Amino acid sequence: MYCIKITFTPRTIVDDKETTAELLWDYLCGLYRSGQILKDYLLVKNGESYAAFVTMPESNSLDARYSNVYAAKALEALKKLFELSTEVLGENLNTEDSCTCAEKPDWYMLYTSLYNEESPVACGRCGKSVPLYKMPFIHVKGTDGHFEDEHYSTLSWQEDYRAIDKLWMACLADRFTFRQMHNLDSILSKTGRYICKEYEELTDIPCYYYLYNHIKAPKACPSCGGAWKLRGEETFIDYKCEKCRLVADGA
Ligand SMILES: [Zn+2]
Ligand SMILES: [Zn+2]
Repeated sequence: MYCIKITFTPRTIVDDKETTAELLWDYLCGLYRSGQILKDYLLVKNGESYAAFVTMPESNSLDARYSNVYAAKALEALKKLFELSTEVLGENLNTEDSCTCAEKPDWYMLYTSLYNEESPVACGRCGKSVPLYKMPFIHVKGTDGHFEDEHYSTLSWQEDYRAIDKLWMACLADRFTFRQMHNLDSILSKTGRYICKEYEELTDIPCYYYLYNHIKAPKACPSCGGAWKLRGEETFIDYKCEKCRLVADGA
């Protein structure tokens, strides 16, 4: 993924430094929640100028058409105060490349882990992450017909998952953390499957939930009890239940 420096050079003397900093944070948060940049953004002040260091999934991720209403509003206000310029610094070696498939895949997978900062939506064809601005906004959970105006639920689920995975890796609260990632009735799994269901309804492309297993996946689908081991199919996962929209890997 691309690491970019966005420089904000003041057009005039900016008096209200606090409001300006808030505006800059709003802009970066808006870009993050639109899926245009990753969570690892950094804001630096140098004299009267500011610089943001961000990681983007694609070379054109900052395009205005990918921004949500909050990023667009903040940018409009910032442009009155600053001259903006961008510079590509290079490749962020801490991240994997995004999906570059020309066509939409036959299926998506919701997957993340402690080590994944990329979008948690994976392309079923290449297994790489799909920038969230290529996915629709989903309904706010528990409401009727009200859409989100950012990828809030997906990103929150990802942050929660990564935090739980961190505790699991550190052998803290083993029973709780394993259940959250492995059991279908945990809040983490239920929320993840809700997100999958929403994406599937809105894109007409099946969206599978990746279920974590420690060492070995069960022989039968943990939801319907049917056979789910894949044989002879060239893909990046080992288990898939089409009926339950679940996938897993492991021998
Ligand atoms: Zn792909
Ligand atoms: Zn099943």
